[in-house]
Amino acid sequence: MTTVLKNFIGGQWVEATSGKSESVPNPATGETIAIVPLSSKEDVAHAVSVAKAAFQEWKQVAVPRRARIMFKYQQLLVEHWQELAELVTKENGKSYGEAYGEVQRGIECVEFAAGAPTLMMGSNLPDIATGIESNFHRYPIGVVGGITPFNFPMMVPCWMYPLAIAMGNTFVLKPSERTPLLANRLAELFKEAGLPDGVFNIVHGAHDVVNGLLEHQDVSAISFVGSQPVAEYVYKTAAAHGKRVQALAGAKNHSIVMPDANLDLTVKEIINASFGSAGERCMATSVVVAVGGVADALVERLVEAAKAITIGNGLDEGVFLGPVIRDSHKTRTVQYIETGNNEGAIMLLDGREAPAASGNGYFVGPTIFDHVKQGMKIWSDEIFAPVLSIIRAETLDEAIAIANASEFANGGVLYTDSAKAIRHYRDNIDAGMLGINVGVPAPMAFFPFSGYKKSFYGDLHANGKDGVEFYTRKKMVVARYV
Ligand code: NAD
Repeated sequence: MTTVLKNFIGGQWVEATSGKSESVPNPATGETIAIVPLSSKEDVAHAVSVAKAAFQEWKQVAVPRRARIMFKYQQLLVEHWQELAELVTKENGKSYGEAYGEVQRGIECVEFAAGAPTLMMGSNLPDIATGIESNFHRYPIGVVGGITPFNFPMMVPCWMYPLAIAMGNTFVLKPSERTPLLANRLAELFKEAGLPDGVFNIVHGAHDVVNGLLEHQDVSAISFVGSQPVAEYVYKTAAAHGKRVQALAGAKNHSIVMPDANLDLTVKEIINASFGSAGERCMATSVVVAVGGVADALVERLVEAAKAITIGNGLDEGVFLGPVIRDSHKTRTVQYIETGNNEGAIMLLDGREAPAASGNGYFVGPTIFDHVKQGMKIWSDEIFAPVLSIIRAETLDEAIAIANASEFANGGVLYTDSAKAIRHYRDNIDAGMLGINVGVPAPMAFFPFSGYKKSFYGDLHANGKDGVEFYTRKKMVVARYV
């Protein structure tokens, strides 16, 4: 029987009141694996009122006690690592190896949050004037709403709720309706770790739930991760309702390859960065800019390596490339491949012809276009699929100018052996997360996830000290003891 998912409110499984739902297919097979409710604004209001009530007690729980629950949660996540990774593969499609790595990234967020006693410390200056001292204290901000995308069902929610909750806030999560299963398991394990009821809540659904969170007067802050248009909408709407907001958005990441790059390493890293997770990563490499004489050898080796990729169900051993998330996303990807052809780029590998592309799953094989030009749609748009564009440039400065012309500024990679080139790149590239001979330079939990331009709306990023700042407010005290 197909699982019908429920919301998680006040530590209980609660049916949504909307009466609306949609099916969740396994993207590798097309089979329905669950039914997800599309909850209403009333369901959101119920969750927020429960979270608001829970906040009154949770904020007073001693910080080391909150941290101890995080330690217990970390243990449980480690014990269930394999089960969680399988669930990620089942609902998202990425290979088991990638899912396993994603679970690790989520666990690291919990580990970071367990440092709450240190992270929440304030500071003081004993003598700001004669007999007067000044200090600041950190406090939680209240009920936080989290809205997450399909591509990292474990890692992205874990960027948000563990830290927010460790800081003393309560949380209402709206997971992607396309990958809703894992979130419920994360909630169960958190409860098992000793988290009081009402501190962490889940309301499943789509835009009604999002709008319910954005508009609710008792939600203090919104953490959002998803596509650019929705991020912009969330940022503007949440701000208009007086909320603190961080909205992490789309990307079009350029990797620049210099003539002195180690080609064995470069090809391995680009193949992983472009086609791993079916290109559905905000840190995926979707454009390679080959500088000077490296282009022909690089292109030949990339095509050769891409042809050797094993495509299939991510739970099968040896599979590297799983399906994209939905049939509609496959259709959109195929349209972009046609667009690339029409724009005059030279197609070297056609993912539509991969044998798996004709089965029931939503498979598209690796696709490579050469001689792509700035201004083509396959260069400018986030396709979010295993489609790689290659541009040829004469110099590093020309390559940097091409990358900087993108409206996005999430990640960027430079492949080179030259310290001078690395420094020049670092100082001049428009991207918040840089890799030097590292294909997917996603920062770990203790650093901020730092995109900008149309890749980020807000001020304080997710994770690291930015996350601590985002989920706390400061009180300054100026004191004279008489
Ligand atoms: P999406 O924008 O379609 O969905 C994200 C969330 O917004 C979901 O929970 C969804 O239900 C909700 N949503 C979608 N449309 C909405 C609407 N019209 N009104 C209100 N809410 C809406 O994104 P996705 O396809 O799930 O995820 C992929 C995108 O996320 C890519 O663009 C990727 O680059 C981006 N992403 C960015 C980062 C980052 O750190 N910058 C990380 C992961 C993913």
